[in-house]
Amino acid sequence: MSSEVFGEKSAQRATDGAESRPQSKKREDYLEWPEYFMAVAFLSAQRSKDPSSQVGACIVNPENKIVGIGYNGMPNGCDDDLLPWSREAPDRLDTKYPYVCHAELNAIMNKNSADVKGCTMYVALFPCNECAKLIIQAGIKEVIYLSDKYHDTPEMTASRRLFNLVGITYREFKPKHNMIVIDFNSINHPGMGSMTGSVHSP
Ligand SMILES: [Zn+2]
Repeated sequence: MSSEVFGEKSAQRATDGAESRPQSKKREDYLEWPEYFMAVAFLSAQRSKDPSSQVGACIVNPENKIVGIGYNGMPNGCDDDLLPWSREAPDRLDTKYPYVCHAELNAIMNKNSADVKGCTMYVALFPCNECAKLIIQAGIKEVIYLSDKYHDTPEMTASRRLFNLVGITYREFKPKHNMIVIDFNSINHPGMGSMTGSVHSP
């Protein structure tokens, strides 16, 4: 996994005086589709109010069009100040688990297409068994995840069993860049690329 911050090359070119020459070639370091979709999932996760786990999901159709985005949160209309966010409590009803909707569920329910059959889901964490059921019933054919940190739990084991039975492929995503920084100031600095590592910002 590279530790390079996305946009480093753009920043380097700018300091080499590329700004004074006309740009005749396209950018080389643009975001490729898989990183773009995973980044959308991660950006969406920043909407989550869960203090311990922010997960995002992005559903993409075979034409590389995003058809659903979601993050983990309480059900629509349920006041997230009134429901618990704890991971542990003597009474399970005082934990978040009976209430929270996972990112995968929200991404499927938020779809802006008639269905998500044949689509790919990009998701930060390998899906739990409840989400695996939804993914299967929705007709999603591929799951691309970044982390599988709960691999040995019964939930994830059940997920893999279900995915294997139905032929849904799942694979770990290996990002080319460890970090993508969104710099709102870059639009005012042509040649710097739309995203630059903060360490290179003026
Ligand atoms: Zn889940």
